[in-house]
Amino acid sequence: MHLTRVEANDMQQLRTHSSESSPVLEALAGTDCQFCDPGTLEAEVYKGNDAAVCAKCGTPAAQIW
Ligand SMILES: [Zn+2]
Repeated sequence: MHLTRVEANDMQQLRTHSSESSPVLEALAGTDCQFCDPGTLEAEVYKGNDAAVCAKCGTPAAQIW
């Protein structure tokens, strides 16, 4: 039984990793927004996809499909 539990944990870790390890989003996160002055881009989920979204105006700068 404990083997099944280990597999489930591994799958959760892989899923968490893949949703946060996009090099494009990591490069965009923290950069200045192109559409408003003091805005900063943050890695978020936009319409179900990973994206870099401005924390101030909410404009998505990039989406990963
Ligand atoms: Zn903005």
